[in-house]
Amino acid sequence: MTTTGTSTGTDRDVGVAERLATIRGGVGPKRHNARTIAALTRNPGCARRAVLDTAGVDKQRLAAYVDFPARFGQSQFALARGNAFEALVLASGAAELVRLLRERLGLPIPEVAYDDLATVTGREKDTPEVRYARSRAQLLRAAAGGDDAGTLFDHPLLALEVAGQRVYLEPDVIAFRHEGRFHVVEIKSFAVVDGQADPAKVSAAAIQAAVYVLAMREMLAGAGHDPELVAHDVVLVCPRDFSNRPTAVLVDVRRQLAVLRRQLRRMTRVEAMLAALPPELTFDLAPDAAGVPTRSPESLVDALQAIDARYAPDCLSVCELAYFCRVEARGRTAALGTSAREELGGIDRVETALGLARGELTPAEEQAEAAALLRNAARLRAELLPTAVAGAAEAAGAAGAAGAAG
Ligand code: SF4
Repeated sequence: MTTTGTSTGTDRDVGVAERLATIRGGVGPKRHNARTIAALTRNPGCARRAVLDTAGVDKQRLAAYVDFPARFGQSQFALARGNAFEALVLASGAAELVRLLRERLGLPIPEVAYDDLATVTGREKDTPEVRYARSRAQLLRAAAGGDDAGTLFDHPLLALEVAGQRVYLEPDVIAFRHEGRFHVVEIKSFAVVDGQADPAKVSAAAIQAAVYVLAMREMLAGAGHDPELVAHDVVLVCPRDFSNRPTAVLVDVRRQLAVLRRQLRRMTRVEAMLAALPPELTFDLAPDAAGVPTRSPESLVDALQAIDARYAPDCLSVCELAYFCRVEARGRTAALGTSAREELGGIDRVETALGLARGELTPAEEQAEAAALLRNAARLRAELLPTAVAGAAEAAGAAGAAGAAG
């Protein structure tokens, strides 16, 4: 058997790492956190985002340089409100949280040992490695069943492998151990009013909590424990109604875990995506001696356009490049949202969809089904619109008459 002409896994890894370093340019990779990892699960089909995130390109800086700066993030007011609410829930050894776990979730917790892993050894001077080692030791001792090993672990520092690099997850979470199982507790400052919360915010919180569940499961599995010791039900704590009183609900994050695993696996198999890109592709801003980028924004735009994107309105809340990609996607059906893209499969441009709806274009074979739907929708609209307009005019007239009579 000969091995001439083949490459080992290590050779390939080195090749991929070198290619990613070229794409990133002469800077270190941008670090992920739970929010950025959670964002990977939104729009997982976008190759542009997958390549840039795997390479660790600073998308925020890139977006600003091509003149489409990112416009999302929490306001100072929202941050202060979130911190105040978290402090209230965790005051006095997390007394309020324990009351919630007992009363709202009916958990028979006899007594509670509370460990604040963020401050025990001096948060300011500890490196992430030291804090991670301490959190890991404490959680593994608890997983091994030590009765004296604690119940509530406040702000454990966790870690996850993302695209071949260890990412420390800044502590924003509590691990709660009950009858041998861990639950992740997420404290959020958006309100639950009459038992209902903004679904988009609940969904974002669930994905972030899933990142922590995955990190804890991998830590346990790496030490020979059953990863299922970390429950897929996470505890979400939010202000109730319009007060500052907390309430708690259980959220099942199994679906988010599956998406997250899939996306992280995809990032470690980036070779196929890289193979489709020009070999010289780079997002290096090539700074001069004063740190000012020497490349033109246009050349960065060309580099961005060399990677396929899959813009959807959802990008606006999760990706730094959203404003660039939105302009680029103008006129495409995908820009109308995921459901429009799926319903209009095979019809890429809005003008084509309109032409098919009006019967001005003959659909290709793969467009036939979507074209029939479009023509049907256009016919219904034409039938109903005059009636709706007349009804609105009649209602406006009646309201005017009533006002005059009053
Ligand atoms: S904003 Fe652009 S790069 Fe980011 S996920 Fe959306 S399409 Fe992809």
